[in-house]
Amino acid sequence: EEKLDLISKCIRTFPDFPTKGIPFKDIFPILKDPKALTAVMDLFEEHVRNSYPQLDLIVGLDARGFLFGPLLAQRLGVGFAPIRKKGKLPGPTLSVAYSLEYAQAEAEMQEDAVSEGQKILIIDDLLATGGTLCAACELIRQQKAEVLGCLVLVELKDLHGSDKLKPTPVFSLIQY
Ligand code: IMP
Repeated sequence: EEKLDLISKCIRTFPDFPTKGIPFKDIFPILKDPKALTAVMDLFEEHVRNSYPQLDLIVGLDARGFLFGPLLAQRLGVGFAPIRKKGKLPGPTLSVAYSLEYAQAEAEMQEDAVSEGQKILIIDDLLATGGTLCAACELIRQQKAEVLGCLVLVELKDLHGSDKLKPTPVFSLIQY
């Protein structure tokens, strides 16, 4: 498909970033190209309209989920709420600890960000091991809201993140 072509041309790989052995996918060129950004939003919007008409809220992950989440939420006429790294959000928060490849991390959400029973989609730029999105799902479920699925621009298939997220469905635009 033409739109996917446009998007994949805007994703580049930097070897050994942020540490040796990691081939880092850089999605920022998408934001430099209005046609590619429109293609991303068109494909996400089409998928969500077809699959999740009951959607109440989009939740985006720190930091690159913040670039695409609000744009998509506005197109769909729903709200947006952030999940951030520990210590960034004011007021009462809920948090979940999770492990990254070499470290521990904590994800936080404001207590009043979602309400009980809300139907939610989570968005981020990239799915690797799935640890980050799993923590996000847990935070939302702690608030008795429902995670309908996860949306990412890029999925690194070899790391089997979508297995880790099961039974929550993952929709990705580009796979490596
Ligand atoms: P996971 O928790 O292992 O799935 O890692 C996903 C998180 O790490 C996301 O928030 C991504 O933004 C970030 N991440 C991991 N690898 C990359 C990459 O190659 N490019 C951009 N972001 C990455």
